[in-house]
Amino acid sequence: MDRIVFRNANLVDGESPAQPGCSVVVEGARIAQVTPGEVPAGPEDRVVDLGGRSLMPGMCSSHFHTTYRAVGATPAPSLGLEAPIPILTLFAAQNLELLLRHGFTSAAGSSVPGAIDASLRDAIEQGIIPGPRLYAGSRELIATGDAADVGLRTWFYELGNLGSLALADGPMGFRNLVRQEIQRGSDIIKLNVSTGHAVSVSDGRCTIEPDELRAAVSAAHRRGRKIRCHASSRESILECARAGVDVIDHADQIDQPGLEAVLKSGSFVTPTMLFSQKLLEALENYDLREISAADAQQLPFQPSGEGGELMVRRMREDFDNMAAMLPELNRAGVRLLVGDDFGTQPIPHGTYGQELELYVKQIGIPALDVIRWATRNGAEMTGRGDELGTVSEGKLADLLVVEGDPLQDIACLSNPSNLKAILKDGQFFKDELD
Ligand SMILES: [Zn+2]
Repeated sequence: MDRIVFRNANLVDGESPAQPGCSVVVEGARIAQVTPGEVPAGPEDRVVDLGGRSLMPGMCSSHFHTTYRAVGATPAPSLGLEAPIPILTLFAAQNLELLLRHGFTSAAGSSVPGAIDASLRDAIEQGIIPGPRLYAGSRELIATGDAADVGLRTWFYELGNLGSLALADGPMGFRNLVRQEIQRGSDIIKLNVSTGHAVSVSDGRCTIEPDELRAAVSAAHRRGRKIRCHASSRESILECARAGVDVIDHADQIDQPGLEAVLKSGSFVTPTMLFSQKLLEALENYDLREISAADAQQLPFQPSGEGGELMVRRMREDFDNMAAMLPELNRAGVRLLVGDDFGTQPIPHGTYGQELELYVKQIGIPALDVIRWATRNGAEMTGRGDELGTVSEGKLADLLVVEGDPLQDIACLSNPSNLKAILKDGQFFKDELD
């Protein structure tokens, strides 16, 4: 079998500090050898001298809304109803290819309408379209009359199509909906269990009963699937950890008891701070009490008046809390992930690298740790830690060749022209090596 022999690589393996002067051999879909120094090559092998460029694992965007496109910029009755399902599917295919072009060879979906993720996951696996390995998301399950529901002023509920939302009540209601999402092909089922993070004014509450949450988790786990929750508030983080939720999204109000609960449960956390930062930058420049209705329409998510001002103030408090807590979560060993609400108006698709830069340059997390979140932790969250996430012998060859050293300057990952090669399953998606 033909092999690819990478020599003189600055190895950023997803686990350890950089090791210069390494060789990595790819044979078929897998990494056959990782070694310091040179390895011999045969006449059939493709030998690539990387000249000190970095070789690292493909990354995983662990909170990805495949269909989002300028969400918040134009009024839509609900997420998932911005356009017909076939058009949303085409947006999603474009977004997934763009994500792969930015070095993310895996992604985990968050809320999505119409079981689009499951179909695109299959289309990618069958080679119909290019894209990352997709761990398919689901509709977003919420309790009737909870903050996320009421906040939408949902006249269109009378029409019966709730887009990417689905309402449930009681343990049996949540169990049924989780099973339906599994039937529709989801790998990870999303629930919304709190206020905050731009959904409605943050108030610290959990909007679902503990028995409903436990029923959802149990229904998913019994079928080998996972549960993720929009859990921004203090109480919801604790309830999610107690129920054994796999991924806690946002976690803006996490405190010391929350940290300890998450450590004990082993739940993953997606801090998703880039969205909050960019949204706050846009909104804090306005006096929302004074703003005209016309101006409010130009703003992401159109908050205005007293309610809008309160929402922004609470979002600022929540952002500052996460900025202070994130280094502590990281030091304590909480399993953190990258991924955010890309495709909303404040953070368009293609700005993925800015999230990594934010954590390193503004929050002060070591670059090595952020790389681990994006590689090893992402693979572990999707249950494929033994196959993906590090450059190790025997694992699948999802690899990036990077101009620059992301551990010295993480910003080199923000510009896709620095990615000289992108491999998935040992196949080149991008090859600018020779
Ligand atoms: Zn999201």
